[in-house]
Amino acid sequence: MSSPSAQRALSNQKVVCVLYDDPAAGFPPKYAREGIPTLTRYPDGQALPSPSAVDFTPGHLLGSVSGGLGLERFLAGLGHRFIVTADKEGPDSVFERELPDADVVISQPFWPAYLTAERIEKAQRLKLAITAGIGSDHVDLQAAMDRNITVCEVTWCNSVSVAEHAVMQILALVRDYIPQYGWVVRGGWNIADAASRSYDIEGMDVGVVAAGRIGLAVLKRMKPFDVKLHYTDRHRLSLDVEKELGLTFHENVESLVGVCDVVSIHCPLHPETEDMFDEALIGKMKRGSYIVNTARGKICNRDAIVRALESGHLAGYAGDVWFPQPAPNDHPWRTMPNHAMTPHTSGTSLSAQARYAAGVREILECWLDGRPIRNEYLIVQGGGLAGTGAHSYSEGDSTGGSEEAGRYTAG
Ligand code: NDP
Repeated sequence: MSSPSAQRALSNQKVVCVLYDDPAAGFPPKYAREGIPTLTRYPDGQALPSPSAVDFTPGHLLGSVSGGLGLERFLAGLGHRFIVTADKEGPDSVFERELPDADVVISQPFWPAYLTAERIEKAQRLKLAITAGIGSDHVDLQAAMDRNITVCEVTWCNSVSVAEHAVMQILALVRDYIPQYGWVVRGGWNIADAASRSYDIEGMDVGVVAAGRIGLAVLKRMKPFDVKLHYTDRHRLSLDVEKELGLTFHENVESLVGVCDVVSIHCPLHPETEDMFDEALIGKMKRGSYIVNTARGKICNRDAIVRALESGHLAGYAGDVWFPQPAPNDHPWRTMPNHAMTPHTSGTSLSAQARYAAGVREILECWLDGRPIRNEYLIVQGGGLAGTGAHSYSEGDSTGGSEEAGRYTAG
């Protein structure tokens, strides 16, 4: 597959990169560990990012503004302009001001620079939108297709990171970890209070919605807990995998949620999956079941989740994805009962940052040299869904309402 730009090296490009703010306590932070393990391959054999070089130390903070994904020296050395900012909301934001003559935009799902149709219209030179992570729903993919903009992401870079977080949150909910920790911190020894919502997961029915890279990794990690495993997906896994993990396949999500005690969501956000967990679907779940959503906030109906927790129909909800992001200070998921939410952190562990920073550099090297970007990184190219996008997404747009992110103020 060839990149449309692609026959010659590009010069004097303007690259606008939107990253989350530096640590409140200042940058660089003190690191808890000396380094991160070196991986050789992803679980399905896909090669790790392979840029010609990197200008950062793996395990260091790269995803915030001062980290700059370790790209500054590389881009400046080639004579390109590199603008990094966290200021992304509203017409006076640095992002909107820099957009009209940007050639490339880099953004992260954790702190998304929403590329709505209106912004794409303003960005007349834009040819490439890179997601430093996985999940490109913050881009109006339909508008990108219509404008022939290439959209790509760093497939696999943080899939296992998210799977680990999802498993942690499944256990946190079922065992009711967070309130128990609260008793310790407050100085109590209230065993009865701490145990009154705490269960074993052993023997429960646990299902995933979508068994792609993350969903399958969650199933593999949950198997040793002696649970009954279920999944639904648009494409069925091989019979060998189903047998090895003891999986029950469900033709649709309604069938899956009807039998599961725990449902973990792992499909991308696109028009088919937006608002999937609405009042009606949640109503089909067993009373006292749990949802973990590390996929995208908009897959679950915000108010239906709150009502189900308040009524006790759901025993707990966790995840790390919200809509919009950052979540406004009065977002009801911050205060609803029996939740174990984190901000959007699962895919931005220091381990994951090293992989997505290297992946972004690989994509930029290919693009700037006029070489093809790996097929597995492509979401949109040549006016249509491509690569991973053609497999996992549907056409259309899921950015509606993203301007609400401007209602957040830092605490
Ligand atoms: P994959 O592309 O490997 O898997 C996505 C899976 O979702 C595919 O198996 C796809 O099916 C399936 N799917 C798509 N639409 C539907 C549908 N309507 N119903 C059921 N299944 C569906 O991606 P990953 O597993 O790596 O990532 C999945 C998502 O997780 C990302 O798109 C992103 O939104 C989120 N994510 C969150 C992160 C975080 O930090 N919280 C970090 C990384 C990802 P098929 O291909 O068979 O059609």
